[in-house]
Amino acid sequence: LVKERVEAELRSAALTDALTGLGNRRAFFEASAKTFAQNARKNRPTTVIVFDLDRFKEVNDRFGHPIGDAVIRLFAEAAANRLRAGDVIGRLGGEEFAVTLPETTGPQATLVAEQLIGVFAASVAALAIPDLICSASAGVAETTTSAETLEDVLGFADKALYESKKGGHNLVTC
Ligand code: GH3
Ligand code: MG
Ligand code: MG
Repeated sequence: LVKERVEAELRSAALTDALTGLGNRRAFFEASAKTFAQNARKNRPTTVIVFDLDRFKEVNDRFGHPIGDAVIRLFAEAAANRLRAGDVIGRLGGEEFAVTLPETTGPQATLVAEQLIGVFAASVAALAIPDLICSASAGVAETTTSAETLEDVLGFADKALYESKKGGHNLVTC
């Protein structure tokens, strides 16, 4: 039926980020909450990584907004390629992304984040636009007995991200 198809399309549009095709903030929170609930029942660790592109205002200022958009898409592509089935990724807004990794520890997620940032930086360099470089910083946090909910873990990941920025950018903090 047309009505059902239109409703499904509207639902999907409400959860999709138009620039990258990734899930948007709302989709990320909805899907991650499910992952957290499932893993808590199984007593398995869940880890969240938050990413923020480095000195991105400078990318926009020096190279223009369309190039900035292309760089954001490159990050989304690198992230989508790196993830496994069951991982949840979303664009939280601007040049900020988050990933929820079920059955994954902080140290394992740290490796994932480092590899992803490496692939992203290389794909920006491969555009071969003179002087255009971009890296990303990340914060990683794993569920613990005192941080069990998505909101708790995301809060710790945000603090870790702040440490990465303070530490000089292009870093992953767990
Ligand atoms: P830092 O390394 O500390 O993160 O510095 P920054 O310059 O990246 O600072 P911040 O994260 O605060 O800046 C985000 C910038 O991203 C500001 C905003 O203009 C830009 N931005 C947000 N959304 C978009 C978008 O959809 N496209 C483009 N091209 N730029 C965006
Ligand atoms: Mg930002
Ligand atoms: Mg930034």
